[in-house]
Parts: sequence; C-alpha cells; structure tokens
Amino acid sequence: MTSHSEQHEQHERLPHSPIPSDLDLSGIRGYLFDLDGVLTPTAAVHMQAWSRLFTPFLEAHGAAPYTDDDYFAYIDGKPRYDGVRSLLESRGIRVPEGEVSDGPAEDTVHGLGNRKNDAFNQTLAEDGVEAYPASVAFLDAVQAAGCRVAVVSSSKNAPSVLEAAGLADRFEVVVDGVVAARDGLPGKPEPDTFERAAELLGLPTTACAVVEDAESGVKAGAAGEFGLVIGVDRGVGRAALEELGADIIVDELDELIPFLPNTASSPDSPREDPS
Ligand SMILES: [Mg+2]
Repeated sequence: MTSHSEQHEQHERLPHSPIPSDLDLSGIRGYLFDLDGVLTPTAAVHMQAWSRLFTPFLEAHGAAPYTDDDYFAYIDGKPRYDGVRSLLESRGIRVPEGEVSDGPAEDTVHGLGNRKNDAFNQTLAEDGVEAYPASVAFLDAVQAAGCRVAVVSSSKNAPSVLEAAGLADRFEVVVDGVVAARDGLPGKPEPDTFERAAELLGLPTTACAVVEDAESGVKAGAAGEFGLVIGVDRGVGRAALEELGADIIVDELDELIPFLPNTASSPDSPREDPS
C-alpha cells in the first residue's frame, strides 16, 4: 500500500503568478478557509478509504478489481451513498438500500457507505494527513498579522481531519457539515456557511476573504458580499476559477504572504476601519 504522500506530488509553480502587484489585503481581517484541497490533501485519504472498502468487497463478489480510475469515474465529488450506488451499478451488483443507521458490517448501500466512513477515519488515524506546507505558512502569516481564521467545510469529518493534520487548535470557528445540518444552513454553492463563519468570528463578510479550491466553493464566495474570493488552483484551472468568481488565483497560498500588511511588529498601529 502506498502512502498518500507518495500519491500526492507537489504542484509545479508557475514562474510568474499573476497576482496584481497592487493587491491590498489590509481591509481583510478574517480568512475563511475551505479544508479539503485548501489546507489538507484529503482527497488522497478518501481515495485510500474507498479502496479499503471496495477492494475486498468486489473480490468477494467476483467482480472486476477496484482501481483509482473507478474513484474518478463513479465516486469523486458525489455524496457518499451516491458514490456507493454508482460504483455498484458499474459492476452490476445489487444490494438493498438499507437505512442510514445500518452498521458498517451490513451489505447495504448505507452499510457500505458507513463502512467507507469507518475506513476513512481508520486511514486518517493510521497515516495521518499532512497539511499543505504553503497553506500552513500562509495561516501562520495571517494569524501573525492579527487576522481571524475559520474553517468552512461541507465535510462531516472536518474535526478529525483538522486533528490529524495538527491544525485543530488553530481555528476558533469551524463550520462543517455537522454544524450546517444542525443549523439548517444550505451548503456550498450557497454562501450561507461562509456567512455564518464570518458572523461567528464577529466580522462583517466584507472584511473576510473566502479561500477555496472547488467550483462549488468559489461560487459560494462569489454569491456573498465577501471582501475577496481567493481561488487555489488544485486542478480546476485558473480560467474556470476566475469565471466562477475568484478575484485572485494562486497555485499555493504562500504566494500571498508578501501582500499581507505587516502588523506583527506594530500591533497597536491604527487601522483605517476600526470596528
Ligand atoms: Mg475543497
């Protein structure tokens, strides 16, 4: 079994990142970070967990072996139970739907989905997940500049991912899938979860930047009245991120560090926009 770090190679940097030289981040007092793909390469953990679920399952059913191509063709981007249905359909395997409360040992759509979630948490616990170093560097820099930070994730596993990445104590506010379900907030591409995070930080949305790598997340940022939408290009592509509403696009977040106001050395310096 290969580790996720082997699967995830560093992105190559573009020689000249087209960040406008007059970019002014001094009005941004809060950063609302997506988690999967922005702070952590969580996709690799999900891929491993799906493999742990379906490799033995398909073998036991005498079906064609599970491959990473199956992940991209039938599972990626879909809610968990839809991914189960889609993969089983590709192999012509039928199992009962079952109930959301089905245990992970049940061979039902919901049981298999719940087994995948167990495999995800087991993979996280065994292998951990290493946050993107450039994202951690940016997080360090914005916090040193006195900015507030929140995580806004659709995932219901956000706390365990943050814990595994060693980032759990860095965020005073986490709005994840569990919080959204509890509070009845529509998920991305609606802006509501980002708006709630700004509210919990005690900041107007216009003083907050949304940091996203996914289409639905950039759309959510563009749909609200946020100060800035930062797109991190992990594969969606610059043109697409811009079209969807990103104000600036980076390959890695540390490209923005030179544009942060240097308030760390003068914490009492007056701000133009006191709240
Ligand atoms: Mg993401």
